[in-house]
Amino acid sequence: MARIVQKFGGTSVGDLERIRNVAQRVKLCVEAGNQVAVVVSAMAGTTNRLIEWANQIGSMHDAREYDTIVSTGEQISVGLLSIALQNIGVDARSWLGWQIPFKTDDFHSAARIEEINAKEIIYRLNKGQVAVVAGFQGIAPDGRISTLGRGGSDTSAVALAAAIDADRCDIFTDVEGVYTTDPRIMPKARKLDSITFEEMLEMASAGARVLQTRSVAMAMRHSVNLQVLSSFKESPGTLVQNEEKQMEKQKVSGIAYSAEEAKVTVVGLPDKPGIAARIFGALAEIHINVDMIVQSASTDSEKTDITFSLARSDLWDAVKSIKNIKEELDFERLDHDDNIAKVSVIGTAMRTQPGIAKRMFEVLSDKQINMQVISTSEIKISVLIQADYTELAVRSLHDAFGLDRPD
Ligand code: ASP
Ligand code: MG
Repeated sequence: MARIVQKFGGTSVGDLERIRNVAQRVKLCVEAGNQVAVVVSAMAGTTNRLIEWANQIGSMHDAREYDTIVSTGEQISVGLLSIALQNIGVDARSWLGWQIPFKTDDFHSAARIEEINAKEIIYRLNKGQVAVVAGFQGIAPDGRISTLGRGGSDTSAVALAAAIDADRCDIFTDVEGVYTTDPRIMPKARKLDSITFEEMLEMASAGARVLQTRSVAMAMRHSVNLQVLSSFKESPGTLVQNEEKQMEKQKVSGIAYSAEEAKVTVVGLPDKPGIAARIFGALAEIHINVDMIVQSASTDSEKTDITFSLARSDLWDAVKSIKNIKEELDFERLDHDDNIAKVSVIGTAMRTQPGIAKRMFEVLSDKQINMQVISTSEIKISVLIQADYTELAVRSLHDAFGLDRPD
């Protein structure tokens, strides 16, 4: 007997038929002798519609009311799934975030989970009842409903798995697992049997959208055994696990990309302490996340250039806020480009095998793709390129690292 958290995303509960299918899957897991807690998202499209309504009624909305509105999608799906389970003879009840409770901080619309009191859930799981838990929501210190940010149900599921000390957290989704790259642009992409937490984190932050990044970080911190699998097919998915479990086969695991990047270069800045702090301080103030940063000396050594990348949707706000402090910073020029993509090669092999960067750069140069910025971490190399070359770069790298071949 094991204690298992099963999480079903929006497409998996997209209509009543699918909700009935989910109920059957849960029933199978219960009949196999397991204790089961299910976390569900809102039915596909629901959260988008709720957000649209919130924006249309008034754009300067109170984030507490926004949370009151957008959390309702999950309330519907937990109720429906509980009834579907009861109808096929499974003892089940629904739980909203505040009922458990999932205690969060007070950052309404992007709250973080601080504590889960799972006593009652554990008591009922022990008695054989299935807990159907609303993802994405919690209760803030002000006593009001909070939500965790888009895709937050993954994080709810992992947090619950940690709180009830689950043996496994299965994330059911509309794909079969984690792929070596995006199958929509590379037909030869292959489902991975396993991947390490760190690789998964890099994949998620480099643009692969299977799991919310925060959920992976949380699973890693609490050593939650995570599996990503399809809710439509009966096949094994991808295990996300500690590196020790696969020490023998360090490899290149995947190619990730994000085609929605932009790049800004502040040209001719005085080369003195405090300049970078001022630029990135101004961006932090308006909550803009910067990704890669490169500082280079210009020909005249009194001056320096700073280049950074960011999400394309943040470009204009970033440009405006830096222009606002032009006099103070005393730079010559601000260049920007909104047609940029980031392509990353990811794998634990980089820790031990030299030459992976060289290989990557050769492949891109063979295809005449110019790398504008390069950055590396222990298990990732990322480059910025012209967005039009994204597909070519991803396919060529996938081939060059032999990712279509099983391990
Ligand atoms: N329903 C929320 C969203 O669409 C949370 C989730 O699906 O994970 O973002
Ligand atoms: Mg999701």
